[in-house]
Amino acid sequence: MLSERISSLKPSPTIALTSKVREMKSKGVDVIGFGAGEPDIDTPEFIKEACYKAMKEGKTKYPPAGGIPELREAISEKLKKINNIEYKPSEIVVTVGAKLGLFLIFFALLDKGDEVLLPTPYWVTYEDQIKLCGGVPVYIRLSPKNNFKLTYEDVKKHITKRTKIIVINSPVNPTGVVFEEEELRKIAQLCVDRNIFIISDECYESLIYDNVNFKSVASFSEEIKKITFTVNSFSKTFSMTGWRVGYVACPENYARIISGLNSQFVSNTSTFAQYGALEALINPESETFIKEVRVLFKKRRDVIVEALKSIEKVEVVKPEATFFIFPNFSYYTEKVGNDVKFSDYLLEKALVAVLPGSVFGMEGFLRMSFALDIEHIERGIERIKLSLEDLT
Ligand code: PLP
Repeated sequence: MLSERISSLKPSPTIALTSKVREMKSKGVDVIGFGAGEPDIDTPEFIKEACYKAMKEGKTKYPPAGGIPELREAISEKLKKINNIEYKPSEIVVTVGAKLGLFLIFFALLDKGDEVLLPTPYWVTYEDQIKLCGGVPVYIRLSPKNNFKLTYEDVKKHITKRTKIIVINSPVNPTGVVFEEEELRKIAQLCVDRNIFIISDECYESLIYDNVNFKSVASFSEEIKKITFTVNSFSKTFSMTGWRVGYVACPENYARIISGLNSQFVSNTSTFAQYGALEALINPESETFIKEVRVLFKKRRDVIVEALKSIEKVEVVKPEATFFIFPNFSYYTEKVGNDVKFSDYLLEKALVAVLPGSVFGMEGFLRMSFALDIEHIERGIERIKLSLEDLT
């Protein structure tokens, strides 16, 4: 018999879809994938070079559980310069991607039955990680009518005696919106007053368009910083998804615990990968790379928004960040039964891969990634449009 804990586990649907699309493509099927959760751009050469160099220099042994000191120092500098937060290197723990960082935080904080506030739609991994750690996700359903923004009132209504953590993921995967600073400040203060921890997942901070305002939650005040776990990653910013480098920044007593868990679970991510990540932070070429990627994704964002708007009965909230869009297809999903069946329909009829909104906690929507070139975005949406003719 497997443990009770494991009974709630389901494999990541995003990874499953990516594998399915890869398999179809390898069989010569001309499928257009809107499922990707990663940039379609290679890691910059200067980052790879730093990793090769580290390997050649013999930096191939176990890393310290908290991460190599040079990288923790560079992350501390980055958080000061870009996010306006003072974290000492001892308050930073390098993790095997932000994904493991998040898991370790839930693992360290949650007892059975503790509640975690989860603005919905949410990135699917949070829900599973919370359940695996014995927690109970409490869904705060956001509305497209309010552009999927989280408000103070939303949060206040859902707090109970068992509320232990709130997950704030802004910019948001899957909607691409950035929560309003004013609301976040009020929410964070409420968490201080009610003894609730904040996890602030800021993985998409470099992909914000049109100068939309974004501030790190921990930068709001010293008392807010004390209850906040700032989580970030090299994956999206530097196209390093396969390197598996992320980090958690938090007060030192918690950092020591996360680092201790690292030492028992994984030691840490590969030593040479950490030298690559270090280069990403200190090499001035990174700034140019980030700007170029942002310009590219903004163009694609504009194309996909217009293309989707041209489909009748589909509602779109324009993403302000990320490479995701979360259009409302409920008129069509209802015709075939639900959004899972509709995604299957699109894969079969239009050879287009998308993820059903229900995977992210919101039925009737689709999550579409625009991490693919403009020609494919346009062709993919045309195919969807054609396939819908049979449903109207
Ligand atoms: N947080 C969010 C919101 C994400 O979308 C992802 C990846 O899709 C991650 C964290 C995980 O990032 P990493 O590759 O660093 O594990």
